[in-house]
Amino acid sequence: MAQVADRIAVMYAGKIVETGTRREIFYNPQHPYTKGLLNSVPRLDVDGAELIPIAGTPPDLFSPPVGCPFTARCPYAMEVCDKVYPTATKLSESHGVDCWFQDERAKKLLASR
Ligand code: SF4
Repeated sequence: MAQVADRIAVMYAGKIVETGTRREIFYNPQHPYTKGLLNSVPRLDVDGAELIPIAGTPPDLFSPPVGCPFTARCPYAMEVCDKVYPTATKLSESHGVDCWFQDERAKKLLASR
């Protein structure tokens, strides 16, 4: 994919959770699922890199979750995550992500701790 795609959309549980150029997705992923995905697949440009699987299993899509579908597997999940689907955050003209971690309110909360 890195050799043939100009733009990439990353899907989880039937939703597009991150979009960006090839460079943005491969070198600056922002959604925890995208990061986990990239850590779990072999890279041809790195020798001996350890593969780290994403813990847990995908949600049951016959009974889809109300909030972010990645909540049960996400190391950054917050209280809001399983209650409300995250709003889209535009990181650049071409890079977008659906994740509460990118929301300005979450950033302010984390900065205040
Ligand atoms: S919205 Fe919450 S659970 Fe979903 S990916 Fe972002 S931090 Fe993780």
